[in-house]
Amino acid sequence: MIPGLLLGIYAQIRLSSTYAKYVRIPNERGLSGAEAAREILDAAGMPGMPVKEVGGHLTDHYDPTKKALFLSSENYRGQSLAAVGVAAHEAGHALQHKAAYAPLHLRMWLVPATKFASSAVYGIFLLSWFMHIGKLAVFAVGIFAVIALFQLITLPVEFDASRRAKEQLLRLGLVRADEGAGISKVLNAAALTYVAAMVSALLELVHWMLIARNRN
Ligand SMILES: [Zn+2]
Repeated sequence: MIPGLLLGIYAQIRLSSTYAKYVRIPNERGLSGAEAAREILDAAGMPGMPVKEVGGHLTDHYDPTKKALFLSSENYRGQSLAAVGVAAHEAGHALQHKAAYAPLHLRMWLVPATKFASSAVYGIFLLSWFMHIGKLAVFAVGIFAVIALFQLITLPVEFDASRRAKEQLLRLGLVRADEGAGISKVLNAAALTYVAAMVSALLELVHWMLIARNRN
């Protein structure tokens, strides 16, 4: 469990420091994240898709059920490299949805099962008080298999959204080529947190598989 936890902590620290650096560097054109997202969505034929401001820090996301972009205030209003990078990444998810990108659909399809599995994790700790560890391990393997599968399918979805983001920012002339490097650093740091989550889930799965094998 420890290596997964350490990798997760390292990824969070790296994302915080990289974001903190590039949120202070303004982009040349003075575009806010909201404006950059709007430009990308309009150019992709989605002028009706709302781009909304949401509270919290790095709470930015694309909601496929509402077909809307939600950007944290820092990125919605901010005119930094980080703001346009994150906003373009979220617009990248909207582009995936429009293009019927298969991994995004698979990920959406897995959301209900993953939500259930994520709450069932707490059940493992409760059940461990009175349930035979071998029987519990079988239950845990099922739960972590769902979580690991979800984290695994999240990786291509996230890397592809960042790839689409950089492509559109440059193609539409929203950022200069040399600004792309800073944006890549922010998006790669964000991607590392998803890699860490996948590694942790996979290690948990292996851990419980070994217990199930040894105790049954
Ligand atoms: Zn994303």
